[in-house]
Amino acid sequence: MTDVIVIGAGPAGLAGAISSAEYGLSVTVLDEFIKPGGRLLGQLHQEPSGQWWNGIEESKRLQEEAEGLGVDIRCGVSVYNLYKEGALWNVYTNEGSFQAPFVLLATGAAEYPIPLPGWTLPGVMSIGAAQVMTNVHRVEVGKKGIIIGANILAFAILNELQLAGIHVDRIVLPEKTPLSNDAAVPEKVLKSLLNAAHLAPSPLLRAGSRLMKNDWIRKAGLRFFPKDGIKVNGTPLQLKKAAVEIVGKEQVEGVRAVDIDSSGNRISDSEIEHEADFVCIAGGLYPLAELAAVAGCPFKYVPALGGHVPIHSEEMETPLQGLFVAGNITGIESGKIAMAQGAVAGLSIAVQAKSGGQSLDEILKEAIHRVQALRRETAIQFNPDIEKGREQMKDYWESMEQDHKVNAKRIG
Ligand SMILES: Cc1cc2nc3c(=O)[nH]c(=O)nc-3n(C[C@H](O)[C@H](O)[C@H](O)COP(=O)(O)OP(=O)(O)OC[C@H]3O[C@@H](n4cnc5c(N)ncnc54)[C@H](O)[C@@H]3O)c2cc1C
Repeated sequence: MTDVIVIGAGPAGLAGAISSAEYGLSVTVLDEFIKPGGRLLGQLHQEPSGQWWNGIEESKRLQEEAEGLGVDIRCGVSVYNLYKEGALWNVYTNEGSFQAPFVLLATGAAEYPIPLPGWTLPGVMSIGAAQVMTNVHRVEVGKKGIIIGANILAFAILNELQLAGIHVDRIVLPEKTPLSNDAAVPEKVLKSLLNAAHLAPSPLLRAGSRLMKNDWIRKAGLRFFPKDGIKVNGTPLQLKKAAVEIVGKEQVEGVRAVDIDSSGNRISDSEIEHEADFVCIAGGLYPLAELAAVAGCPFKYVPALGGHVPIHSEEMETPLQGLFVAGNITGIESGKIAMAQGAVAGLSIAVQAKSGGQSLDEILKEAIHRVQALRRETAIQFNPDIEKGREQMKDYWESMEQDHKVNAKRIG
């Protein structure tokens, strides 16, 4: 038996394991992947400060720190069920079951798919799969690719593909369908991309993007948006073109696309076929929270956090005694923030386990402030309304606690 079971060895899980272990708790980390690091393993980008964020080095650092504190990290272990019996959580995996009074769920995020004709052809992958193949497995995903979907993750991974010497021919939008939602509407896509304008590769693009934040200028800008797109690191971003089909006999041979207006509606007689031998679909991210649901944790739908998220406090506890959450399972943010949230969860567990003494409350408060400060400073923010989303969850938790107290009084 161990004090804490952490599910997920990404930045949140590893940081949580470290901070619990630092306060004397025994910790076992379970992860279904072949090595620890989670999505960090695929990350490589230059921050606006000029510094490089190298996810492989970050994961190595976290793994070494955790192992140095005696944390038992087990990879290739997939968790499929957990429930509480008495004071203990039972966690079921392909490698048998584990028990502990505390569980930290740090299972990260998954990608929204955007189905379109031809998407089952070999050579079609999610943008995240292209990142993993390129940066983790070092496999060339193809010679000439097209990305369908324009969002922050698509641009981060475009850059990584380019660094690996892979040619991305263009970025287009998906066609407007009930499943593609806002990802198919140039107006909406442009507005969300402008929140990352500070990351644009050229000063001209950065200045232009700042101007475009004005509604009127943005609408006009979109009306005159060049048909061939604007180049982002040499790859045309074609906001007014939509993919209608991925074509090919045995594998991807190209993408059939049409011109669209600012609202995403097709312009007739504009169809054209672009050659490609691989296609990446970038539909955005949502919290991977099934295990929280299996455990019986209540959820709240908060679009600014990426969808349905387990209800949790700023201290990362859930309404279920002994069950904690951290990282992208609580809302889509960058690796640095996931790490800081993991530290909060690990400290909260130490507080509840009474393993850290009085001073731990102050340390926990500081850790919470650190998450908030990082959120304000971070270079990559997947959702511009993230702070509102976090406030919404905080208010919800507080009102739930209040109701609980009122009910407890009535019952008492
Ligand atoms: C495809 C993709 C690409 C991303 N790229 C970037 C990027 O370039 N830059 C950036 O800042 N952010 C990126 N992110 C966001 C990223 O999720 C965060 O940066 C950060 O990695 C989140 O940390 P985490 O610890 O919450 O989750 P993750 O890093 O996702 O770690 C979760 C871990 O949980 C494990 N796991 C999940 N379910 C189970 C289970 N049932 N049993 C056992 N183990 C399980 C997974 O194997 C994984 O190792 C990306 C996210 C995704 C999904």
